[in-house]
Amino acid sequence: MEIAKVGVVGAGQMGNGIAHVFALAGYEVLMTDVSRDALEKARELIGRNLDRQVSREKISQAERDAALDRIATTLTLSDLGQCDLVIEAATERETIKTAIFEDLVPHLRPHTILTSNTSSISITRLASRTDRPEKFMGFHFMNPVPVMQLVELIRGIATDEVTYRTLLGVVEKLGKTAASAEDFPAFIVNRILMPMINEAVYTLYEGVGNVGSIDNAMKLGTNHPMGPLELADFIGLDTCLAIMNVLHDGLADTKYRPCPLLTKYVEAGWLGRKTQRGFYDYRGETPVPTR
Ligand code: NAD
Repeated sequence: MEIAKVGVVGAGQMGNGIAHVFALAGYEVLMTDVSRDALEKARELIGRNLDRQVSREKISQAERDAALDRIATTLTLSDLGQCDLVIEAATERETIKTAIFEDLVPHLRPHTILTSNTSSISITRLASRTDRPEKFMGFHFMNPVPVMQLVELIRGIATDEVTYRTLLGVVEKLGKTAASAEDFPAFIVNRILMPMINEAVYTLYEGVGNVGSIDNAMKLGTNHPMGPLELADFIGLDTCLAIMNVLHDGLADTKYRPCPLLTKYVEAGWLGRKTQRGFYDYRGETPVPTR
């Protein structure tokens, strides 16, 4: 199936990265958010990230300009009805996502493929709230989208082969690599990554190490490019907590219980880089550990 126009719902850190890579690959992109401010910031950020690619000679100035021209924004969700493919990348909360699908579906054309960039929520359950479970899939990009090679493709119980093959073709056109995962809580990457991050927070909570020693130990001891607490701040602590809750509820195993210290940071509104404070404080020139 031919995909020309792509809708992106949510212009946060993932939505802007998704819009960026699709526009660069030649797709027309229409991005929406409930916040005008988020849409404006996303366009600015995409411009700056494209500039960085030009200065590193990864793309030409003309490619940069053409990509930015292919991105339009709207505050009206129903405008995405013209798209061939819609990627929902709004906040990781099931009630928000199902409300978006319920509002959007009456405006979609019959052939449109509907996807969610959710990190953990059941694709089969999200699909069941739409009129097209056979044309619904999990389309899970990694952060930062322009840099990371992997895209996880998750089929719900009803997803048909044409939809799956179409998205495989899209991933190829983006120059990325697909990994297929079955629809179980948090799929592959976050099923393995989040319990490690949560354990790092327990290690901090129990005083085994402080923020600096935990991150250094994991960077130097396991060759990870970022420590787990630094990575948690990068992902967003609200997103990490939401994923742990999905694992805990969905698999009903106490080994997935979210660390109370993670909950406390989220309750404080210390969500990581996006709010300038999390396990590190980012308000100064260099990040300072908060514990
Ligand atoms: P974010 O907080 O940066 O952005 C979320 C955006 O959604 C915000 O701009 C918000 O205004 C917008 N939004 C909220 N309700 C909306 C609605 N009803 N309609 C339109 N927009 C709405 O979050 P993020 O990190 O970009 O995460 C978005 C999704 O991507 C989540 O499902 C998350 O699990 C997933 N994801 C995140 C990462 C990561 O590392 N952060 C990685 C892969 C996938």
